[in-house]
Amino acid sequence: METGLRTAAYIAATILFILSLRGLSSQVTARKGNIYGMLGMGIAIIATLTCSGLDAFVPILIALVVGGAIGARMAQTVAMTAMPQLVALLHSFVGLAAVLVGFATYLAQTKTGSVFEIEIFVDVFIGAITLTGSILAYLKLKGSVSGRPLLLPGRHLLNLVLVTSAVGLGYLFVQGTGTEGLWQLIAMSLIACVLGAHLVAAIGGADMPVVVSMLNSYSGWTASAAGFMLGNDLLIVTGALVGSSGAILSIIMCRAMNRSIWNVIFGGFGSDSGKSPAPSTDAAPEGDIQETQVDEVVERLAAAKSVVIVPGYGMAVARAQHKVHEMTEILRDRGANVRFAIHPVAGRLPGHMNVLLAEANVPYDIVLEMDEINDDLPDTDVVLVIGANDIVNPGAETDESSPIYGMPVLQVWESRFVVIMKRSRATGYAGVDNPLFYRDSAHMLFGDAGTSMDGIVAELRAMAPAGAGA
Ligand code: NDP
Repeated sequence: METGLRTAAYIAATILFILSLRGLSSQVTARKGNIYGMLGMGIAIIATLTCSGLDAFVPILIALVVGGAIGARMAQTVAMTAMPQLVALLHSFVGLAAVLVGFATYLAQTKTGSVFEIEIFVDVFIGAITLTGSILAYLKLKGSVSGRPLLLPGRHLLNLVLVTSAVGLGYLFVQGTGTEGLWQLIAMSLIACVLGAHLVAAIGGADMPVVVSMLNSYSGWTASAAGFMLGNDLLIVTGALVGSSGAILSIIMCRAMNRSIWNVIFGGFGSDSGKSPAPSTDAAPEGDIQETQVDEVVERLAAAKSVVIVPGYGMAVARAQHKVHEMTEILRDRGANVRFAIHPVAGRLPGHMNVLLAEANVPYDIVLEMDEINDDLPDTDVVLVIGANDIVNPGAETDESSPIYGMPVLQVWESRFVVIMKRSRATGYAGVDNPLFYRDSAHMLFGDAGTSMDGIVAELRAMAPAGAGA
């Protein structure tokens, strides 16, 4: 492909990526955004393929077919609840690719000069941090490794020593000629691997959403650094788009959780202040609760003028979103004002609940953000908390020792009647007891949220329409 044509293809792909990001900023345009992104990536792949020589064309094509087949299979088979760990795993691939490309480029010695060597060094550094950070995030999200923060004594000093050593090795690296700096590159990679794992290990369960979006951002910057190293403009721009959008999302999530972005980046900097993290509460918490049954919930719902539904991770596990939509339609037909309250970190992925509700065709205009609905909760007749826990925990406002202290939550306890649908008294992702369960207005409806929703919908359907016989 001629250089001019290739540049035009790269510009077209860049514009499509920007349109894609714009589209993805709202549920209404998200589908279009995805299509723009796919088109842009298609153009980028064709342009890259056609401008590589025949000897590179065949291996790239084979890698594309094999990688594409594995990716398609993964996308088809992954459970919605396993998406977060899949995303984290995919970030680790970006990091690994950056490290491998960095080493290969260095060993090939296609270019020389300090700038080129710095580009390689930075690419491998960010790539190795992304690699191990993402693998640990994957294990934490999968539950194979505890979500509790690992707060080593002197951990900030350790981070500082690791970064300083990497900078020192970088200085020596650019001094060498030919491939003399290989050992410095290897030593720095190992240091960066330890740093990546250590940064993520220090972050507690409730802050994991920010870690996921930060790693997304790192993977973008890694790709951008690789673009500089390889002299590929499209990779620079695409990486920068992913890097900056991931960083913006991290800042938005930090604001929503009332956390400082720096505290999260530097591995919970300042979060311990000498205090140990809240004890694990894997065991069921203690206290008197009020239990309710499907009949009573249906009675309350049928009489309610206003209903707010708070979906959480458990709704995804129970795949109850379709039944929830069915119930919403029945209640709306009966004249109730039904709305959804979405907490920014509900579920296990940014936007997790919005995706599930969109999949079930819940109208967007009744899906509200936490800030838009919190003030209405005191005037709400019934709140249904479906498989949510941390995001409705009043302890986040009152318990200074709690790891989620300071995170704004949905104040569902302010409403007249709260139903909490979950299987047991077990804690949520952050591993902390929830004082909501013991509030006067709170009623526990134990069981799988899908089964409970089946019962509620069946009984509501069996009821006479609102107003009949009144
Ligand atoms: P939580 O993890 O706090 O609570 C989910 C609750 O769902 C559990 O207490 C569980 O209780 C219940 N549950 C599980 N399966 C079912 C089922 N089949 N039927 C009914 N209930 C079920 O989720 P939230 O959405 O409230 O909060 C999200 C948490 O995840 C926050 O701590 C957030 O920081 C964290 N997080 C969020 C990410 C994001 O990007 N959104 C990423 C990573 C972490 P039981 O076992 O008793 O049924």
